Amino acid sequence: MDTEVAWVLSGAAGLVLGAAITFIWRFDERRREEPEVVEAPLVPSGAEAVLRVLSSSAVIVDVDDRVDHASAPAVALGIVRDGHLHPEELLALVRQVRRDGQIRDADVEVPIRRSAPLQVHVRIAPLTSRLVLVLAEDRTAAQRLDMIRRDFVANVSHELKTPIGAIKLLAEAVAEATDDPEAVAHFSARMSDEADRLTRLVQQIIDLSRLQADTLSEDAVTMKVGELVAEACEHSLTEAEAKQIDLRSTVDGDLYVLGDRAQLHAAVSNLVENAVTYSPEESRVAVTAKRVDDDVKITVSDNGVGIPASELERIFERFYRVDPARARSTGGTGLGLSIVKHVAASNGGSVEVWSEPGLGSTFTLVLPAFDPEVDEEK
Ligand code: ADP
Repeated sequence: MDTEVAWVLSGAAGLVLGAAITFIWRFDERRREEPEVVEAPLVPSGAEAVLRVLSSSAVIVDVDDRVDHASAPAVALGIVRDGHLHPEELLALVRQVRRDGQIRDADVEVPIRRSAPLQVHVRIAPLTSRLVLVLAEDRTAAQRLDMIRRDFVANVSHELKTPIGAIKLLAEAVAEATDDPEAVAHFSARMSDEADRLTRLVQQIIDLSRLQADTLSEDAVTMKVGELVAEACEHSLTEAEAKQIDLRSTVDGDLYVLGDRAQLHAAVSNLVENAVTYSPEESRVAVTAKRVDDDVKITVSDNGVGIPASELERIFERFYRVDPARARSTGGTGLGLSIVKHVAASNGGSVEVWSEPGLGSTFTLVLPAFDPEVDEEK
């Protein structure tokens, strides 16, 4: 009997122990299966859809300064690197917003490789108690344009003041020389020159602002390159004859370009006019046009004063003159080549220059060739 009781007791003890082991094992397994409960940073529902629609770059930063969400433009802009906000200045702003809950606007410089930093405007706001939203907008191009515009206005005022001042002085000189007919004739002739200079300057300023307003010309028509070249030579013929300059043109075959008539006329005329202006008496100016692959190349060559290599990059800038003192006698405004450059760009082309001081210069206007039969069918 005793042995029986002992058997039963040991059996029961075994059962209890087995049950306990199973329970502990199961419990442990369940614990292993259940994911750790971590408070995930929750972007409010609908927020992501809204962010996708916004034109600004959007970044959501979590409580540990990690980027929780970044739109593709934000990454392209360079404000997210390796899962963190960049630069440090931006991160500091996010921390301030997280601390006091105040919405902040700021302009931040974002350094990028191999170029000037980007000017980025940011708006930073708390999204939830744990998340901060950064909206960023690249203002680099807009700020550059603004600066160019401000520069342009300052330059224009300065350039206009010079001939106006001269006209005023000459008018006073005429008034004082009433009993000297020769002096009156001399001063009024100079007054007329200054008035011409002013007219030319105003016209070029208008041309240039029109060109800058539209990036691609809308009034494109088919134009015979031969006519364009002939008109440009005609425009400078009187001045060329006065200096006994041999002005010649050769156009290879029937070449056509598609573009704005007035703009292209202004561009080619400016190049020919410069060649004549900056050439000595009895020299030669050659204008040629030929087809090279898909382009038409209009080349204007002279044997004039030439341009030093150090100045070649700058001559296409507005109001830039290699020799400002000389410009007074040539009547140059410094706007001609910047008009040529803009016209080329607006009509899908470019302008190239070769020059050697003392030898001469060659300007080449490159425009896409137009084949009336092939291109018009497209
Ligand atoms: P400008 O009205 O003074 O001619 P442009 O913009 O046409 O202004 O030219 C800028 C400068 O480039 C000129 O002042 C001149 O010094 C130089 N330049 C332009 N074309 C020639 C040329 N064919 N030969 C020598 N210098 C030139």
